Amino acid sequence: MGAGPTGLYTGIALARRGHEVTLIDRDPGPEQDGSWNRKGVMQFHHPHGFRAQVVDALLAEMPEVWDDLMAAGAESVMLPEQPGRVVGLRCRRLVFERILRSAAEAQPGVTLLIGHVDEVCCERGRAAGVRLDGGHQVESDLVIDASGRAGQLARTFRAPAEGGDCGIAYVSRQYQLLPGAENGPVNSPIGMIAIYPGYQAIVFLHDNRTFSTLIARASTDRQMVALRFPAAFEAASQAIPSLAAWTEPGRAQPITPVLPGGRLHNTYRTQLNDAGQVAVDGLIFAGDAVCTTNPALGRGVATSLMQAQKLLALLDEHQPDFVACSLEFDRWCAENIKPWFTDHVYWDAELIRRWSGHDIDLTRPLPSDLIMAATEVDPEMRKVVGPYMAMRALPASLAAVEPRAREIYASGWRPPVPEGPTRDELVELITATVAQRVSA
Ligand SMILES: Cc1cc2nc3c(=O)[nH]c(=O)nc-3n(C[C@H](O)[C@H](O)[C@H](O)COP(=O)(O)OP(=O)(O)OC[C@H]3O[C@@H](n4cnc5c(N)ncnc54)[C@H](O)[C@@H]3O)c2cc1C
Repeated sequence: MGAGPTGLYTGIALARRGHEVTLIDRDPGPEQDGSWNRKGVMQFHHPHGFRAQVVDALLAEMPEVWDDLMAAGAESVMLPEQPGRVVGLRCRRLVFERILRSAAEAQPGVTLLIGHVDEVCCERGRAAGVRLDGGHQVESDLVIDASGRAGQLARTFRAPAEGGDCGIAYVSRQYQLLPGAENGPVNSPIGMIAIYPGYQAIVFLHDNRTFSTLIARASTDRQMVALRFPAAFEAASQAIPSLAAWTEPGRAQPITPVLPGGRLHNTYRTQLNDAGQVAVDGLIFAGDAVCTTNPALGRGVATSLMQAQKLLALLDEHQPDFVACSLEFDRWCAENIKPWFTDHVYWDAELIRRWSGHDIDLTRPLPSDLIMAATEVDPEMRKVVGPYMAMRALPASLAAVEPRAREIYASGWRPPVPEGPTRDELVELITATVAQRVSA
């Protein structure tokens, strides 16, 4: 159920292991011209950065998808200190998913059905398939629920999600560099990140000379809601130097409307019901249906495909004992995926507290973003922080340098604020721009 990144990847890989796979999604797929509305996935046109885990997962199971992405204009990311090692992919989600979907369509053993799954059918405690569009049943031995963060289908079979709204909201827009125009400034493998007290501005580089800009704010900051109006977003973009450098007339032109983000979640769901048991033998949840994290760190597709890879290995090992698969997958997710959720919950809560005017609270554990920022003072800490940033070491690994970061903040040092408007100046600008438009 669900032909997003998790469903497509898992479906292709299962078919390559000799299984008959039916992928079901309510979305009819891209138009002939390549455009894709993708109504049920609100983040589809928002910026996505793809991490090394996504690259590794593709190369492990379907290297030709990687080749197709490169041929479609996506860019691999390499770091000067790790020559030859691809650590990310710059690509619009539109291009990424279009190519993955084409691979699924071309994969012998995969049938792609367009339809809305209404329910999971069970017989004597076992999943027997799903019911589509209020009508016919598609039978199967195993049902994988990859219906994403909004998937409601099998909610009665699991304990409720932990977490909820992450407290941060986004507005973004995609642009294309004009012919002959050079890239703007960058300070990270994904593009350009600028963090201000009260908001964040990011530029994500994509394929084919496209890029996105994004402004994130606390969702409770109602005065910034007007950023969703094109004139306000563009005025803010021109005022924030890192965004202005990329979007100035003569360098780039917008290729999408201004895209307000829906609610952003930090949630985690187990495979088990309230009694701690597998409710339905042969029903397994994966991808965002298990874990969603604040997208500012671009971890969602990575954690989704990490899950998919683990699930494939467990199915290879345990099938047809799907209960054993569910239990072991749940344990693995609790150890390897849930820590990223917990990390974000604390990080976001502390960031929002600081955005509302509070200083760093040294009576509490330091959140990961502050430990990362402290590497600017003590680069030695990067030996520990680097693997965490690359998601090669779990958040708990930061405990080794937390005391050093604490010392740095206790000395009075604070992360430098980039040049640009304060949150209050930005609000003033947005409010004035909207008022001007209304009176005109
Ligand atoms: C604003 C935003 C920005 C993001 N940025 C990044 C980023 O930079 N990097 C990153 O790695 N991750 C990012 N993510 C996370 C990433 O988008 C998700 O992790 C990813 O979409 C998960 O894939 P999935 O296949 O599990 O779920 P989805 O992509 O949500 O796919 C689920 C599919 O199930 C289908 N479906 C649902 N219910 C039904 C039904 N009843 N019947 C039929 N079909 C159904 C839907 O149509 C959809 O196709 C971002 C998320 C958000 C919200």
